[in-house]
Amino acid sequence: MKAGDIIEVLESVAPPEIQESWDNSGLSVGDTGMEVKSAILALDCTEDVIYEALETGANMIITHHPLIFRGIKRISPDTGTGRMLMMAVKEDLVIYSLHTNMDKVISGVSGKMAQKLGLENLSFLKPDPSGETGTGLVGTLPQSLKYDELVVKVKNAFNVKCIRSSSVPDERISRIALCGGSGASFAEDAFSSGAQVYITGDISYHHFFTEKGFTIMDIGHYESETGVLDVIKDILLKKMPTFAVRIAAKNNNPIHYF
Ligand SMILES: [Zn+2]
Repeated sequence: MKAGDIIEVLESVAPPEIQESWDNSGLSVGDTGMEVKSAILALDCTEDVIYEALETGANMIITHHPLIFRGIKRISPDTGTGRMLMMAVKEDLVIYSLHTNMDKVISGVSGKMAQKLGLENLSFLKPDPSGETGTGLVGTLPQSLKYDELVVKVKNAFNVKCIRSSSVPDERISRIALCGGSGASFAEDAFSSGAQVYITGDISYHHFFTEKGFTIMDIGHYESETGVLDVIKDILLKKMPTFAVRIAAKNNNPIHYF
């Protein structure tokens, strides 16, 4: 299986053209003509993930966040990104990412979140002009929950130790908006979608002053997104059932809670 064939399968679900203009999804390093022995998946490409690939004989790393994101002016061992790029080239690795294009398909990052909570009647928080893709989702729970019941459900679904929440609503919750990753900029869209609760990550202090009847829940960037690795794995195995792909053991949250 050539790297290019694997990329083609992924892009048939999450086309690179739909990524945000500031994004850099796609191939970061490597030759698409290279034969891939096995692949590992991680939210981020880290030195640990690269070492794991080398130790386990995987020569393709597929991530959600692109390894090369901002402009790089020098590739040297002085920075983490520099060391990773040098190692990837030296060891003949292919490093590829699906970032905002994977956010924007309905089966992507937010879709996986919705599935974990069993939300129904999904629509995009911020649809693209085509209406076929978009950012964030809003949907309804099959049965309304008290807020403390929802908190337990969310903690279990996303394996979250701690949730940061704005004002605690009294009414039962049925309509929920979601956006994996850093969703602060879509809080207005979540509010106007009629959602009672907006679940996302990376919310800063001032966003917690929410209107009555609207609550923001910050479950963490990593926690909200890591489920997408199962989606990517499923896409590959559906088309290539015998392909050796697995989620990296070193796919870890860089944030630790004490
Ligand atoms: Zn992210």
